[in-house]
Amino acid sequence: MAVQQPTVKLNDGNAIPQLGFGVWQVPAEDTAKAVGEAIGIGYRHIDTAQGYENEKGVGEAVERAELPREELFITTKLRNGKQGYDSTLSAFDASMRKLGLEVLDLFLIHWPVPEAKLYSETWKAFVRLQGEGRVKSIGVSNFNPDHLERIIGDTGVVPAVNQIELHPGWQQRKLRGVLGEQNIAVESWSPLGQGNFVTHPVIEAIASKHGRTPAQAIIRWHLDEGLIVFPKSVTPSRIAENFDVFDFTLDEDDKRKIAALDNPNGKIGPEPAVMNVQF
Ligand code: NAD
Repeated sequence: MAVQQPTVKLNDGNAIPQLGFGVWQVPAEDTAKAVGEAIGIGYRHIDTAQGYENEKGVGEAVERAELPREELFITTKLRNGKQGYDSTLSAFDASMRKLGLEVLDLFLIHWPVPEAKLYSETWKAFVRLQGEGRVKSIGVSNFNPDHLERIIGDTGVVPAVNQIELHPGWQQRKLRGVLGEQNIAVESWSPLGQGNFVTHPVIEAIASKHGRTPAQAIIRWHLDEGLIVFPKSVTPSRIAENFDVFDFTLDEDDKRKIAALDNPNGKIGPEPAVMNVQF
């Protein structure tokens, strides 16, 4: 019997489990095992991408889990080099073969890649896939307000989510304000700051006050902020630790202290406006 876990209602009416399991940098040969471990612990939402080269392992774990399909929420993302209307449609088919799925829960444009000038055509293909019932929800990742404005203006279809870099050192308050106005759900990538924040003294103090670990305190912060979050680990004890966050909350003092960790130089990953790498 799975743990009762919170969901976030998306602007298209679908619900997404708020806590998931991310598999960036999980080697292809280890993915089925790690995802199987996560599903065994109770995770029901998996975040992968074509560019992670491990969709096949996710598919194997899903098949082995033998759960009713509606119990699992699977996200994948279109790789930058596959943008464009026709190539999006064929790349989607390739993902579905690897994942072994008939219908995908969430498909994201991984990065806008402004230089390629293809993200709007790409979004039109996403709208078609959703119209055909092959994917339930469509969204974007690493989109700035001008990128969003463009795709919404061209199609009238508002993405269900924007997956963005978000952790205590880079809290994205301004962009979150813009997304909130359009009812676009926010997903936090690198929620632990790629592990950097688990040794931060402010986080350590908050965690020990609650008798929890620093990773649990950070994940709880994302949940309390209404964000969708999917920490990554391949270590079974940490996979379990990161899911054991449903029986405590942070107080106002903790929230103030974490808010103060926001840092104008805290960004770890690339700036989407200039990220044009094809992978
Ligand atoms: P993360 O913030 O989840 O940190 C992961 C690292 O933190 C691990 O490698 C490990 O070193 C450490 N860690 C994990 N659990 C721990 C624990 N309990 N105690 C101590 N250390 C722990 O970083 P991430 O993997 O970059 O991000 C999570 C997910 O976000 C990815 O797997 C992927 O699904 C997604 N992501 C998306 C994008 C994008 O462009 N859309 C970019 C990066 C990541």
